[in-house]
Amino acid sequence: MSGALVIAIDGPAGTGKSSVAKGLAISLGASYLDTGAMYRIVTLNVLRNGVGLGDASAIAAIADGIELTVGHNPGEDRCYLAGEDVSAEIRGDAVTKAVSAVAAVPAVRARLVDLQRALAQGSGSVVVEGRDIGTVVLPDAGVKIFLTASAEVRARRRNDQNVAAGLADDYEGVLADVKRRDHLDSTRAVSPLEAAPDAILVDTSHMNQSEVIAHLTELVEQKVKVSR
Ligand code: C5P
Repeated sequence: MSGALVIAIDGPAGTGKSSVAKGLAISLGASYLDTGAMYRIVTLNVLRNGVGLGDASAIAAIADGIELTVGHNPGEDRCYLAGEDVSAEIRGDAVTKAVSAVAAVPAVRARLVDLQRALAQGSGSVVVEGRDIGTVVLPDAGVKIFLTASAEVRARRRNDQNVAAGLADDYEGVLADVKRRDHLDSTRAVSPLEAAPDAILVDTSHMNQSEVIAHLTELVEQKVKVSR
């Protein structure tokens, strides 16, 4: 791929977004930015400091002073909080349950959106994944993709991943959590989860991961050809 291209990938939890975004970045030789990981790192620090999820000003203070690093290599995406590798801990249950509340605090979003814009600039072609990338963070992105899949399919995938990772088999619990996070993410006042009007919608309910990556690679290559 010649010329720097910014590709925004948004969508709810469980659409396979992270794996697909990484796969697409590898297939295009682009770098990768996982904005969800940034919200997760802030959330981990909120929990570690014993700050209540209703205390927006204390949460904002944590976000303001945080030293976080997220990897940009799609093959090796490590995440650090003040130099400590927290890649595994930010995917745990405690952070997953609390992250939507932290992400709803406007000051947290303002701080992380600034950081995301700075990270996405000047790094050549980049695939940026999140919830509000095409709408708020990078509205000028060259390609915007919005992944969808039914809540049931997403919960099934997440539960299968949990079981494979040795966690409890709890489809109903995972489904309830998927619906709860969808609701919080799409009804929050600041940057709710929604597709940009110029995003390409891709329903992954009946596609496997490599089919989605191949489809998106083709979409991006098509788009690059058209804009040349
Ligand atoms: O993508 P992931 O599941 O890791 O994101 C965790 C949470 O971070 C989401 O449920 C959402 O609440 C929040 N998030 C966000 N905006 C983004 C990325 C993630 O609000 N751009």
